Amino acid sequence: MMINTFQKSTHKRKKDKLIKLKLQENVECYICGSTQQLHNHHCIFGKGNRAVSDKYGLTLYICLTHHAEIHKNKTLRKEIANYAKGEFIKQYSISEYMRIFEGVYKC
Ligand SMILES: [Zn+2]
Ligand SMILES: [Zn+2]
Repeated sequence: MMINTFQKSTHKRKKDKLIKLKLQENVECYICGSTQQLHNHHCIFGKGNRAVSDKYGLTLYICLTHHAEIHKNKTLRKEIANYAKGEFIKQYSISEYMRIFEGVYKC
């Protein structure tokens, strides 16, 4: 199912074959399904990890209301980070996850 992501980048960089994850099928709030005022939430944030989240596609569409909520609610934020982590590990591995995001998500 993820095969198509390869075809876009022809042979720009041979080194990093980057698989960009797709956490959502549709452009809608991950929490409530709204399509209004969507924000891009970086699932794994912290020092320098917004950029990495972008790079690997670890972002979710979240509506304005829920985006504010996520950043207030630690449990919810953790849940979302866990979801993204799970998807990342499915595609890569736990060791790769730790290599890239180590030190960011410990609690
Ligand atoms: Zn929402
Ligand atoms: Zn956010």
